[in-house]
Amino acid sequence: MTAAATRHPDLIDHTSSARAWLTANAPATSVAARDAHDVSVFHNLSHDVESALIDELRAWQRTKFDGGYAALSWPSDLYGAGLSAEYEDAFKQAEAELVPLPRHELISVTVNLIAPTIRLYASEHVRSMLLPGLLNGSLLACQLFSEPAAGSDLANVSTRAVREGDDWIVSGQKVWTSGAQFADWGQAIVRTEPGSTGSRGLTTFVIPMNADGVDVRPVRQMSGGTSFNEVFLNDVRIPDSYRLGEVGDGWAVTRATLGFERANASNKKGVGGSFDQLLELAARTDSLQHRDVRAQLADVRMREVGAEVALRRDKRARDAGEAPGAAGSMRKLQWVTRLGIVSDLARTMLADKLIADDGDPGTFSWNAHVLGAPGYRIAGGTDQIQRSIIAERHLGLPAEPRAPKPSRTESTK
Ligand SMILES: Cc1cc2nc3c(=O)[nH]c(=O)nc-3n(C[C@H](O)[C@H](O)[C@H](O)COP(=O)(O)OP(=O)(O)OC[C@H]3O[C@@H](n4cnc5c(N)ncnc54)[C@H](O)[C@@H]3O)c2cc1C
Repeated sequence: MTAAATRHPDLIDHTSSARAWLTANAPATSVAARDAHDVSVFHNLSHDVESALIDELRAWQRTKFDGGYAALSWPSDLYGAGLSAEYEDAFKQAEAELVPLPRHELISVTVNLIAPTIRLYASEHVRSMLLPGLLNGSLLACQLFSEPAAGSDLANVSTRAVREGDDWIVSGQKVWTSGAQFADWGQAIVRTEPGSTGSRGLTTFVIPMNADGVDVRPVRQMSGGTSFNEVFLNDVRIPDSYRLGEVGDGWAVTRATLGFERANASNKKGVGGSFDQLLELAARTDSLQHRDVRAQLADVRMREVGAEVALRRDKRARDAGEAPGAAGSMRKLQWVTRLGIVSDLARTMLADKLIADDGDPGTFSWNAHVLGAPGYRIAGGTDQIQRSIIAERHLGLPAEPRAPKPSRTESTK
């Protein structure tokens, strides 16, 4: 009997008991339940409704934690169940099908990106202070990475932290911080070596978002919602124990978080615009005979199947213990390209019905897809950056020209 054959029944048992558990424990409905025609890419909710949704998601995370389903692939001595990624994915798939709650990026950032980073790099004190809360929904965390002059070139951050006894004083500005207005903690990359440039001299910390000097200002995006924020850090005092990794190793810590982000980037089930929804739209708008519509529909379906294949290949590699490599970048690029093609097809079918709501259900709602989809071509690393990663790390092409690293004497001037 092969290993796969011996493991298979366990996975099937696990999936069916997970489904039974989900059916028994899932909330019946949600304050922000998506209507049948909602194909939005970002939340366009009022602050109060979004806040109520976050509370529901926190409560659901707690239920999963108490039921042993919040961290299936984490070690059993660290709040997890010690199972492989396959089991976790099977649970997530069943959850997407059986639980009526909309997703929220902040939960995924907390559980899939920041909790694993803290597990790897935080002091024992911070691990025991934060990990249970991050996994059970009582604490949510955002990424304080990008700055007005440091996005793709993240190593260019200028927010600084200055040591004062056992504390650090953090000052600067972060931007595009998703979910900061609801977050309890933020993971920040800051410059701790005065005068250093690039990836040297950076350190990563966790910062309580309710600390004195943290000022969060929502940014309204063109699709209507306020998914992200500017965060001003005005002389925020934090203890040295909130440091992740060594002083000066912030770049490695942050890259680990970005690696988790890429690995999760195309798992956004429930983000609008599937083949089935487009097919339904084509039938309703009488567009199925249109040659371009049929070709674009076929393209979307092919890409959906391609994404499933890439996901399975990725999972097999992960289960075999392979490092993430450029696979996450390829999957993210495939996903956002598909989002764009979905928007194009909606435009082909709906034309001016996308411009104003004439009351015809399921037509103007695609406007939220068209206006939201481009955001994911930027979030978590732009398309161009993903292409460079694939070119250099997967295809082995020559690296793009980069500024030479400064010598130690230069960087400490
Ligand atoms: C929806 C959304 C959510 C986000 N959430 C967060 C968050 O929670 N926390 C956070 O810290 N940040 C967040 N961001 C910010 C995001 O990480 C940055 O926007 C992204 O890294 C790009 O940086 P930038 O906006 O400064 O653009 P720039 O880096 O200035 O890029 C501008 C253009 O130049 C291109 N470019 C830049 N460098 C190169 C290069 N070397 N080679 C080729 N082309 C290049 C880019 O591809 C892009 O087209 C979010 C962004 C979005 C859209």
